[in-house]
Amino acid sequence: MTHVLPKLPYSPEALEPFISKKTIEYHYGKHHMTYVKKLNELTPGSPFENSSLEDIIMKADGGIFNNGAQVWNHTFYWESFSPNGGGEPEGKLMNAIEDAFGSFEKFRESFSNAAATLFGSGWTWLVKNKDDKLEILQTGNADNPMRQGFTPLLTCDVWEHAYYLDYQNRRPEYVNAFWKIIDWKKVDERM
Ligand code: MN
Repeated sequence: MTHVLPKLPYSPEALEPFISKKTIEYHYGKHHMTYVKKLNELTPGSPFENSSLEDIIMKADGGIFNNGAQVWNHTFYWESFSPNGGGEPEGKLMNAIEDAFGSFEKFRESFSNAAATLFGSGWTWLVKNKDDKLEILQTGNADNPMRQGFTPLLTCDVWEHAYYLDYQNRRPEYVNAFWKIIDWKKVDERM
């Protein structure tokens, strides 16, 4: 099975000024694309030749896991955004956030803090646990919370390649911009 780079749900300049066209060209067009290419080089002849990305995330290790999880994580990240995004969630998602964190403001603060302080390369996630409660998780490198039985709802890529062209070393500024493009309807669907 050949993995493909999914199309972006918006044009490359649609998230400006928060994420520039140039960042999309590199982050989506080169980094995300390279994970797809490498995965397609590694899987033929392996036990994961016909596996879905979800299967690879649950069962693979080494290069197949790293590239497969990075393909999934990036698609999930791009699909979390909309040029009309931002604001606050509504309905059952908002209720679940208030239930877990006290308020949207407190959730935003904890998530931003987790994203800003994650050491090195990785991802910050909003997930649903087995008891249907929301939690914030940090994962290193390519790791994905599904591997520990969580349902991912939202993620922020904090690898330097996600923000360096636009914000250089100012990761907190990138995290601040992240909130302005989140498609909360999409996050709600993932509940
Ligand atoms: Mn990335």
